[in-house]
Amino acid sequence: MTVPVPSAELALAAMLDADHPVKTAVADWASSELDPVDMVERDRASTFFAEAWKACAARGLTGMLVPEHLGGRGLDPVTATLELEGLGKGCRDNGLGFALASQILSFTDAILRFGSDTQRQQILPGVCDGSIVGAFCITEPGSGSDAYAMEATAVLDGDHYVLDGHKTHITLAPVADLAIVFAKTNPAAGAWGISAFIVHTDRPGVTRTELHEKMGLRTTPFGDLLLDGYRAPVADRLGPEGAGVSIFTTSMEAERGLIFATQLGAAERVIDEAIERARTREAFGQPIGGFQAVSHRIADMKVTHELARLQLYKTAARIDAGETATLDAAMSKLVASEAIADIGLAAARVHGARGYMTDHEVEREVRDALGGLVYSGTSDIQKNLIARLLGVG
Ligand SMILES: Cc1cc2nc3c(=O)[nH]c(=O)nc-3n(C[C@H](O)[C@H](O)[C@H](O)COP(=O)(O)OP(=O)(O)OC[C@H]3O[C@@H](n4cnc5c(N)ncnc54)[C@H](O)[C@@H]3O)c2cc1C
Repeated sequence: MTVPVPSAELALAAMLDADHPVKTAVADWASSELDPVDMVERDRASTFFAEAWKACAARGLTGMLVPEHLGGRGLDPVTATLELEGLGKGCRDNGLGFALASQILSFTDAILRFGSDTQRQQILPGVCDGSIVGAFCITEPGSGSDAYAMEATAVLDGDHYVLDGHKTHITLAPVADLAIVFAKTNPAAGAWGISAFIVHTDRPGVTRTELHEKMGLRTTPFGDLLLDGYRAPVADRLGPEGAGVSIFTTSMEAERGLIFATQLGAAERVIDEAIERARTREAFGQPIGGFQAVSHRIADMKVTHELARLQLYKTAARIDAGETATLDAAMSKLVASEAIADIGLAAARVHGARGYMTDHEVEREVRDALGGLVYSGTSDIQKNLIARLLGVG
């Protein structure tokens, strides 16, 4: 399979140059403009960095994939990935980077690909200027990995659908103005009876639960959405009836494939700090980096990170070329999520007791990394998908 230029060329440049200028420009901007001085306290209190979200919107990050005539910058997926990687590297608030990438790659991507002209015109300019925040809701208390076993329903009643259901573990739910909600319009048809709807969270029939406290990515607002007789005009259906699976799988491909750009950017900081510690911390009369156990740990961190980056940009190039990227996206999600978890744990070992202390921040990087093993499909689910695409399992 061939990937046409220029995306392949840019992806190759991104692979070869970890300090690619597009990435570095955003990283430099983020580290000077978005530096959360009180990061430890923000994390402890689960405070969403709303001012930084607005600054990201003003810099064109929320609208990076949206065409210019709708208020965005119309970036290709490879350039967008470079910018997200730069954001992760420059901004220590991983919860902000994750929330932003999640909105771009699921909510915005789905409206872009499947929205009607009216829906795009009504929603996307607000996403670009930061006045509209969007969530993407499929998970329910009884269905996570087995997403299509959902119980939420949407019943047609004249020119409205009546939605009932409970969506849980939803990124941005507590602050979202709009949510794409998946529900069964034809339960007898199983997965093919699922449709997607744009839900306005300020209208009657929607309740958002309080913020859920979580292990990591604590600054990402996270919660549930309860629908009780919510009336969605037919015009708020996203795509045709029964298109839910198609919308979900297409958007998940972009999300799985690219969402780890921010956290791989963050992992660079973690590796750099581990190297610095290995050079300067002394034990038994020498820098700890002189012990092979420590230097090999750092070598492993670097190799793991590099391989995940290569797969990330290969996937971005495939998506940019309009090719099916299901296998690459699943592999990207798997290697990147495992990489950042491994790198976080390895860094904590290098820093010793200091790394276990909350104010040192390595422990936060570990906690932030672990969520990646679950969201956008667990590692087990990625392996199931990869095996199935290879014709086994
Ligand atoms: C930080 C974060 C953000 C999230 N954001 C969103 C969001 O914005 N929108 C949304 O809809 N959801 C979101 N989720 C939910 C997420 O998609 C689900 O948690 C995920 O799909 C796993 O579902 P589950 O938690 O119910 O685990 P389960 O499905 O209960 O899985 C539990 C365990 O069983 C394993 N398992 C299950 N089925 C299989 C199988 N067939 N083969 C092998 N192993 C299996 C899993 O790998 C896992 O180890 C988010 C989750 C997190 C942690």
